[in-house]
Amino acid sequence: MRCPYCHHNDSKVIDSRDTPDNDGIRRRRECLKCNLRFTTYERVQPVSISIVKKDGRREEYNRQKLLEKIRIACSKRPIPTEAINKAVDEIEVELFRTGESEVPSRAIGELVLNKLRGLDHVAYIRFASVYRDFRDIDSLRAELEQLQGAKASANGSSAEEARRAPRRTAAKRGRR
Ligand SMILES: [Zn+2]
Repeated sequence: MRCPYCHHNDSKVIDSRDTPDNDGIRRRRECLKCNLRFTTYERVQPVSISIVKKDGRREEYNRQKLLEKIRIACSKRPIPTEAINKAVDEIEVELFRTGESEVPSRAIGELVLNKLRGLDHVAYIRFASVYRDFRDIDSLRAELEQLQGAKASANGSSAEEARRAPRRTAAKRGRR
């Protein structure tokens, strides 16, 4: 396993444990040359799935490629790398659970959108604008409004607090 820092080819394993979902093994390694530490994952290679593109072309599913597309959508957003990896893990679980050997690219796009919607709205819109053809600007706007509506209702608790706040302030003043 090549060291990502100095590219030396020898490392020793200093810790080895199952991934939380028990679908792989996570190893902490230490480079024998520069002594820096890095992590490797060993995973079961799932049965391969072909992605059917809009024009009918087939392409083998590639985790790295999917990860890259999601990373681009998430770039410069406050989203931890771990959250992105977890999203891809969950997308894969859903993808392979179908047992189908071919999956339309659109179906994967929808899985990604479902994950991003809960993760970050900006990343969601970025991904949606590339992978879902918004036929016109109106459908994009409708999508945005729907998101803002969801956000407003999610903020319901803080509106509640805002109503309560004056009373709290009054109570404080009363104590003085
Ligand atoms: Zn090294």
